[in-house]
Amino acid sequence: MEGTALLGRLIWRAAEVVELRPETSQTKTITFDVPGWPGHRAGQHVDVRLTAEDGYQAERSYSIASAADGSRIELTVERLEDGEVSPYLADELRAGDVIELRGPVGGYFVWNAHAQGTVLLVAGGSGIAPLMAMARQRAGESSGIPTRLLYSARTWDDVIYRDELAELAARGDGFEPMYTLTRAQPPDWEGYGCRVDTELLGEVAPDPSELAVAFVCGPTPFVEAVANGLVELGNAPSRIKTERFGPTGG
Ligand SMILES: Cc1cc2nc3c(=O)[nH]c(=O)nc-3n(C[C@H](O)[C@H](O)[C@H](O)COP(=O)(O)OP(=O)(O)OC[C@H]3O[C@@H](n4cnc5c(N)ncnc54)[C@H](O)[C@@H]3O)c2cc1C
Repeated sequence: MEGTALLGRLIWRAAEVVELRPETSQTKTITFDVPGWPGHRAGQHVDVRLTAEDGYQAERSYSIASAADGSRIELTVERLEDGEVSPYLADELRAGDVIELRGPVGGYFVWNAHAQGTVLLVAGGSGIAPLMAMARQRAGESSGIPTRLLYSARTWDDVIYRDELAELAARGDGFEPMYTLTRAQPPDWEGYGCRVDTELLGEVAPDPSELAVAFVCGPTPFVEAVANGLVELGNAPSRIKTERFGPTGG
């Protein structure tokens, strides 16, 4: 049965674009309707496949940014100027277009509604996408699990889901977003203004005895620096879950 369920998830499905929403100058959220979608857990991703008229195909992975919602899923795509797939998704797709995707993929980097202690989410750039799915799922379940988010972006205008994160914080249910802006900070900025390093993690992360689990997502060097920093602070590697988006720094 398990094998049949797994195979069911890994078939390519037609996904129709129902809405496109610019988030920042470089990112767009795309809502798809996927008939037959089996549901997903916050943190999982999909594989997207594009096929050109001459049959050439390109495949990339994208985290699901939305909480489970029937046959609808949302992806937030950052446009890499020299990229093959992301500019197409971010700039060329229109409502009504159909592309192929399969999933959900991944069972390790997923929100656990029964976590004991404080959950730490650490995002670099578009690495916020699966962590936003977790924040949304948490809110949807009215979960009170204390959850801190440390989100590193270049500037305030590059912070994706800015308003929704503020709304989630305003619920006062234990969700606490914190920001570090590495390139420029607005006047009167009260957040952090440095790259995420061990010192900053020491200020923001819960005490190792309090940490339920840390989810770290972003460009590969960012994820490695954060995971190493958390270990240096005395956290068990088994409590640090990572998702690497790509080969270069962001
Ligand atoms: C599990 C998983 C989940 C992901 N989720 C998301 C998501 O939610 N949103 C999202 O925007 N991306 C996500 N990615 C990254 C995505 O899969 C693509 O790698 C990205 O969109 C670039 O594809 P491209 O075809 O435009 O660029 P490519 O043509 O593949 O690469 C163009 C150039 O960009 C560099 N590059 C490739 N990927 C990245 C990257 N991620 N960051 C910086 N430089 C890169 C390449 O080295 C190359 O120089 C995820 C990746 C993984 C593995």
